[in-house]
Amino acid sequence: MQSVIGRSLQIVRQSVHLRQIASIAALPDTHQMLQKTCRDFANSELVGANAARFDREHLYPAQQIKQMGELGLMAVSVPEELGGTGLDYLAYAIAMEEISRGCASAGVIMSVNNSLYLGPLQSFANDAQKAEYITPFVSGERVGCFALSEPGNGSDAGAASTVATEKGDHYVLNGTKAWITNAFEAEASIVFATTNKQLKHKGISAFIVPKGIKGFSLGKKEDKLGIRGSSTCQLIFEDCEIPKESLLGTAGLGFKIAMKTLDAGRIGIAGQALGIAQASLEVAVDYAQKRQSFGKPISKLQAIQQKIADMSLAVESARLLTWRAAWLKDQKMSYTKEAAMAKLAASEAATLCAHQCIQILGGMGYVTDMSAERHYRDARITEIYEGTSEIQRLVIAGSILKEYAS
Ligand SMILES: Cc1cc2nc3c(=O)[nH]c(=O)nc-3n(C[C@H](O)[C@H](O)[C@H](O)COP(=O)(O)OP(=O)(O)OC[C@H]3O[C@@H](n4cnc5c(N)ncnc54)[C@H](O)[C@@H]3O)c2cc1C
Repeated sequence: MQSVIGRSLQIVRQSVHLRQIASIAALPDTHQMLQKTCRDFANSELVGANAARFDREHLYPAQQIKQMGELGLMAVSVPEELGGTGLDYLAYAIAMEEISRGCASAGVIMSVNNSLYLGPLQSFANDAQKAEYITPFVSGERVGCFALSEPGNGSDAGAASTVATEKGDHYVLNGTKAWITNAFEAEASIVFATTNKQLKHKGISAFIVPKGIKGFSLGKKEDKLGIRGSSTCQLIFEDCEIPKESLLGTAGLGFKIAMKTLDAGRIGIAGQALGIAQASLEVAVDYAQKRQSFGKPISKLQAIQQKIADMSLAVESARLLTWRAAWLKDQKMSYTKEAAMAKLAASEAATLCAHQCIQILGGMGYVTDMSAERHYRDARITEIYEGTSEIQRLVIAGSILKEYAS
């Protein structure tokens, strides 16, 4: 069944040109409509009390994720024939920003399902795997997760110590995956494990592992600084037998699958960071116009105006980088460097904006009556997951050095 957004947008679907995305006003009709739909949904279902409650109670927003599924937001770029919404990556980046502006936890749940779980399945799964593991995961009723990191290695993903040993018609998984978003709710996981240690990162393979099979258990839910409405747990494999058909792609392709997935995922995290940054900017401007100090609104003070200028500059420049990276992906052009730039700029914009938002709100920024302190806590993760800021700088510098050498 086609999603609500899919139905209305197919009338106006059109390709995007780089010049068109140079300004917000020139977004194609399809994307403007999507942006408005997501913003209206976020304003009515996420912003304010709900997002604060999910954070305070560490509550997975099950009902809202289901509604997002009905809108087509849990499988934005999955083709319609597989049950997805069939939109491009620019649409996904825009939707990620709008949802995360309302609730960064809902944003990360959406991004993991869209880009880290469905993304690699779309590119590497065979038809039987697609039918079993994509189509039932587009509606928001079920979510998936992506398990690359381990307790002993995060940035150095090629050093995976989880092993998958071939035995007859199955593999046996042993090891622990760490920090896995959506782990608690996920009905299936993409798990990376070494099938040939000698080959180092070229010996890593990817597997699709369903929930509840023997030998697979979850660790405790992590008690996090931010994005507390999303679950983060360890996946523990102890002599866990999975059939050979669980292999995604071919043996040894796992590292390539992971890197390709993270390139695309970073555009989604840039969208999430933009949403947090935008929300912080809006809260700060609204407060500055209402709060009186020395007989006038603090928005009249140049010290406050400087902050507002820096915040909006960071948001808008990061947004253009994000849309450029998404556009390049949509054109099937290389976008590794641009996705890293987008994620780096947007996550730093989120941190800056959330920090300055608290400063503009003064004491009110420091208490939970206002959303500023939540944005501050939520922003921090965007500089860590799907590659830390240090790793993004390595990716960018590596690409630049190659470009200049050629
Ligand atoms: C809330 C949360 C959710 C997450 N969700 C997922 C998920 O769904 N799936 C998943 O697989 N992982 C997930 N992660 C893991 C995340 O991707 C890693 O935490 C991240 O990649 C960093 O790895 P690390 O924590 O092991 O830090 P380390 O790799 O140990 O890095 C520690 C510090 O050293 C720096 N550093 C490391 N190597 C270099 C280098 N070569 N050059 C310069 N600096 C370097 C890092 O930038 C960092 O500052 C999540 C993490 C968190 C906290």
